[in-house]
Amino acid sequence: MVQTQPDDRRGTAGNLEAVKRGFFGRCPHCGQSHMFRAFLKVADNCPACGEELHHHRADDFPAYVVIVIVGHILVPLVLLVETHLAPPFWVGMTVWPAAVVALTLALIQPVKGAIVGLQWAMGMHGFDQAKQARDALRGSSASVASPGGT
Ligand SMILES: [Zn+2]
Repeated sequence: MVQTQPDDRRGTAGNLEAVKRGFFGRCPHCGQSHMFRAFLKVADNCPACGEELHHHRADDFPAYVVIVIVGHILVPLVLLVETHLAPPFWVGMTVWPAAVVALTLALIQPVKGAIVGLQWAMGMHGFDQAKQARDALRGSSASVASPGGT
């Protein structure tokens, strides 16, 4: 009975924790090792726990999310600066493109990691078997902890 409470809490926080681990470039399963083997290349398996990560299908979704985030940050900023400060033309032609590139490069890997973490947590694509195994393990530990059911 005492052990069901932490297991239940961990189960409900699993999706958010996996997204958070992915955002920081960590394995969504163990959080111990790096998810990426290159800047945007997800490792086939986690070097620490062996979890299969090659099932992800992030595709272009991280790029779309980064475009939305960068656009929502920079467009109001550009409008604000250009209408109130009216900087010289060359400033606008150098600062804003540099800001777009810097923000995009800063966000693309964390966003891709978060998306892969979400796909892993929700059992999307090839992650479904790993999720079923986790759910079965969680269910069996909960049934052992409370043999009478509910
Ligand atoms: Zn791992």
